Amino acid sequence: MSEKTLVVIALGGNAIKQAKEKGTVENQRRNVAITCEQLVKMNELNYKLIITHGNGPQAGSLLIQQEEAKDLVAPQPMDIVGAMTQGQIGYMFQNILQNYFMRKKKNIPIATLITQVLVKEDDPDFDNPSKPVGPFYTEEEALNLKETKGYIVKKVKPKGEKTWRRVVPSPEPYKIVETECIQALIDAHAIVIASGGGGVPVMQKADGTLIGLEAVIDKDKAGNKLALSVNADIYLILTDVENACINFGKPEEKSLGKITVSEAEKYLAEGHFLAGSMGPKVTAAIRFVKAGGKQSIITSLACAVDALAGKTGTIIVK
Ligand code: ADP
Ligand code: MG
Repeated sequence: MSEKTLVVIALGGNAIKQAKEKGTVENQRRNVAITCEQLVKMNELNYKLIITHGNGPQAGSLLIQQEEAKDLVAPQPMDIVGAMTQGQIGYMFQNILQNYFMRKKKNIPIATLITQVLVKEDDPDFDNPSKPVGPFYTEEEALNLKETKGYIVKKVKPKGEKTWRRVVPSPEPYKIVETECIQALIDAHAIVIASGGGGVPVMQKADGTLIGLEAVIDKDKAGNKLALSVNADIYLILTDVENACINFGKPEEKSLGKITVSEAEKYLAEGHFLAGSMGPKVTAAIRFVKAGGKQSIITSLACAVDALAGKTGTIIVK
């Protein structure tokens, strides 16, 4: 029997909540069901799957709940909230995928693994936090939180009443702590959901103790680490566009098909991919191939199966 191709799939925000939606349970279940249809197709094409996903809107909502209900129940810090979203989103995928396979009379184990991701103490982002999280505040509220809780706050919108937000560090992922567990699940033929929301960032003290951090790891970069730690063949990044483009949004915009790492590096250096959206995807895609992965693909959810067949998407190879 030939070895199956192992694919790590990083799902973008739209796989769970569309930008214009409120994020009700019905909204989220419908989006996850659409996503799972594609995952089932990949499973039927004999790919082994590890799924990772973003958690921005879900973590944002939970952070609001912690704050608004703080006089009723003890608020939980960001690392706990990150773990909560891994369980919340993983559960929806487990439930909906299991129901699809049940109807097809297939018995496929599916497991979500709450994942911690090690970061380095000397990461430059700890000195200059860059990632806005949680609710928007008025200037007065923001400065009060700075005073009372030591939050780092920044004005993130030029106009409006609530234009301030808390910002936290977004350090580089260094190591997936639960690699052995994820590998064991894959060896047991399970579909695994891991490193959701980029994983819970943890730091290691001199005595080896891991401590959870109030920080966020980019999910595309953590997904790359995950793909490398389990020796995946393909790193598939699914977002809301079919291709990465050069001259994005300009009249001379051009979709990128199959490109080499050096072409991708050149375009990245020329600033074609925006920081905070396509930038980290292309960075993660390049890193995967440079570290020995066969190919990275950036495409949309609907095009995932075609892109795996080489018919569309931005495919980065050596
Ligand atoms: P996700 O939730 O999937 O991580 P993001 O919004 O972070 O989604 O990233 C996808 C977005 O990146 C696209 O919707 C597009 O607006 C933006 N983008 C920025 N630069 C480019 C580019 N060069 N080519 C294509 N899309 C780009
Ligand atoms: Mg993103």
